[in-house]
Amino acid sequence: MNIHEYQGKEILRSYGVSVPNGRVAFTVEEAVEAAKELGSQVCVVKAQIHAGGRGKAGGVKVAKSLDEVRTYASELLGKKLVTHQTGPEGKEVKRLLIEEGCNIQKEYYIGLVVDRATSRVVLMGSEEGGTEIEEVAAKTPEKIFKEYIDPAVGLQVFQARRLAFNINIPKELVNQAVKFMLGLYQVFVEKDCSIAEINPLVVTGDGKVMALDAKLNFDSNALYRHKELLEYRDLDEEDPKEIEASKYDLNYIALDGNIGCMVNGAGLAMATMDIIKYYGGEPANFLDVGGSATAEKVTEAFKIILSDAKVKGIFVNIFGGIMKCDVIANGIVEATKQVGLELPLVVRLEGTNVELGKKILEKSGLNITAAESMADGAQKIVELVR
Ligand code: ADP
Ligand code: MG
Repeated sequence: MNIHEYQGKEILRSYGVSVPNGRVAFTVEEAVEAAKELGSQVCVVKAQIHAGGRGKAGGVKVAKSLDEVRTYASELLGKKLVTHQTGPEGKEVKRLLIEEGCNIQKEYYIGLVVDRATSRVVLMGSEEGGTEIEEVAAKTPEKIFKEYIDPAVGLQVFQARRLAFNINIPKELVNQAVKFMLGLYQVFVEKDCSIAEINPLVVTGDGKVMALDAKLNFDSNALYRHKELLEYRDLDEEDPKEIEASKYDLNYIALDGNIGCMVNGAGLAMATMDIIKYYGGEPANFLDVGGSATAEKVTEAFKIILSDAKVKGIFVNIFGGIMKCDVIANGIVEATKQVGLELPLVVRLEGTNVELGKKILEKSGLNITAAESMADGAQKIVELVR
């Protein structure tokens, strides 16, 4: 789960990790009011969307008066901001962070992520802050330093110090930087983050170390023990189809292609997307209905796929194990009864109760193309959507 920058900063602040003072605003009036309350000479008006790259896209404005705050706030609110992370359609700005302007001396990068190769949380740092870290990694990888954290003892002070020295934090500020990193690590662990990225971390003219940006992502599998985080969820930022899917506990991710996929098991779902691409098609989604799906769940899944206007054909690829083929078949029939089906549908069923499943589909009178194998099915659906 992703949250907004201002929410991330709220969490950081509550852990004593230093961030500039700021307030969220939903309207121009609130923005001006927030700037008044902050009372700082320079304010920064920051678009709050679930995407980075706002600075370059004109989503971060420095205002030197309340009039400028008003101007920038009215420019940004309601605007579709297009950054390199939003895709060409952009994201509408509905919230602003009004923040104290900060006298930046230098920008750094600090991030915590889970490293799959070592199964550890890794602390990364670079003195090339402000820019995209992916770019730094591609062009000057030697400028990224890493500390792998032993989960039994957590981030050690010596590691944080080593990183601070490696990225050339001024000596007199190293202790502050260490405190910052330890605090950030505590947030990461206690809140079950999957990413905690501070880009930029800054050193200010008056000798402070603070987070000017904050990107926190949380492991959705751990949200059940963080009810407090659920309040931060902003449904405006999520794909309505994904929200619907999450209600039924379906693993659904919307993609850009035109072939809707309904599959059981994440591995098979990945393989299905691969094989569609192999035969020259583009999947419209990743969808794993899970191993214990009921006919109702399958119905909902099918409806979600059909609600996607981009979908021009559907490929159902099911290997019945715990999940039975007849349940899938009943779900498909039920869904098409409820919402109709005009698109080509290719079904490949294999495994438990496969004969029964096939019979249900045959009797339904639906226009279904049966497939003998995964490859056969993928070829057929690619052909049909052409
Ligand atoms: P994004 O990563 O989406 O571009 P950031 O929050 O990192 O957005 O802001 C982009 C740049 O704007 C920062 O690198 C920094 O130079 C400047 N900036 C952001 N917040 C402030 C602030 N409070 N005071 C001064 N400059 C800021
Ligand atoms: Mg940033």
